[in-house]
Amino acid sequence: MPFRSGFVALIGRPNVGKSTLLNHLVGEKVAITSPVAQTTRNRLRAILTTPTAQLVLLDTPGIHKPHHLLGQRLVQSARGAIGEVDQVLLLVDGSQPAGRGDAWIVELLRQARTPVQVALNKSDRVGADADDIAATYREIVSPVWPLHRCSALTGAGCPALVEALAAALPPGPHLYPPEMVSDQPEQLLMAELVREQVLLHTREEVPHSVAVQIDRIVDDGPRTAVLATVLVERSSQKGILIGQGGRMLKEIGRGARLQMQKLIDGPVYLELFVKVVPNWRRHPGRLAELGYRGD
Ligand code: GDP
Ligand code: MG
Repeated sequence: MPFRSGFVALIGRPNVGKSTLLNHLVGEKVAITSPVAQTTRNRLRAILTTPTAQLVLLDTPGIHKPHHLLGQRLVQSARGAIGEVDQVLLLVDGSQPAGRGDAWIVELLRQARTPVQVALNKSDRVGADADDIAATYREIVSPVWPLHRCSALTGAGCPALVEALAAALPPGPHLYPPEMVSDQPEQLLMAELVREQVLLHTREEVPHSVAVQIDRIVDDGPRTAVLATVLVERSSQKGILIGQGGRMLKEIGRGARLQMQKLIDGPVYLELFVKVVPNWRRHPGRLAELGYRGD
């Protein structure tokens, strides 16, 4: 059997488990996950190397109806990803029947010529209704798209899924060194880890208007010092993030620091600042600066 390699875009509605799956597959934290929808803003490239294949996975922002400039850019980014890859993995929430959002994505994928495989995720949450739910997806997808069941949380069905994806890639060499798991700069991964903690610790009034900028990473002897700024749109949000006596920011910083230490495998000193930048989401220049490209 020839070695196979190629790019696989993970496509799916927000919250179906794309980031969780990606993290599970590469066995290291490369994408952030949270119970809040739309947490993945940047296309993230994770690299999965098996003895017979190398899959380069792109985590796309969840596709949804855009409401503002940032929303539109998220959709453009997902659309762009479809045309550039060897294969698409359409991830759906298999614990719920197919809905209109799923049908919309299926249409988008049918218009592209890229081969598609479908994974019904969250199989750990279905029981006797599994086949009935699967039938609702069977009904809307193309008959030539293979259907798989998996749980990104428990890992059930994941090896078979990887095998099926690998088998459908073209023969080719390693695209990245086998030991690499991500080609995202450390800085971006660190920013995502801070943003994840903000989402975990705050309620709905904050998350969607938060961006994180890593100002400096200093190799400080045994420790790595990281200076980061959390951008919010309103001063009320800044107040929430800082919290009573700075307690909230401390919690956020502690969580992010622990994750960063895992990422770089060494001690981290993290200093967080909060800055108010009104309407940062509506400034194209600002978006570009933070790495959200409308390509
Ligand atoms: P994304 O928006 O598609 O990237 O979704 P995330 O990966 O951020 O996951 C959204 C939520 O679904 C998180 O709370 C995950 O823990 C949860 N989730 C993801 N995969 C599974 C799964 O296989 N089973 C269960 N029960 N929950 C899952
Ligand atoms: Mg995600």
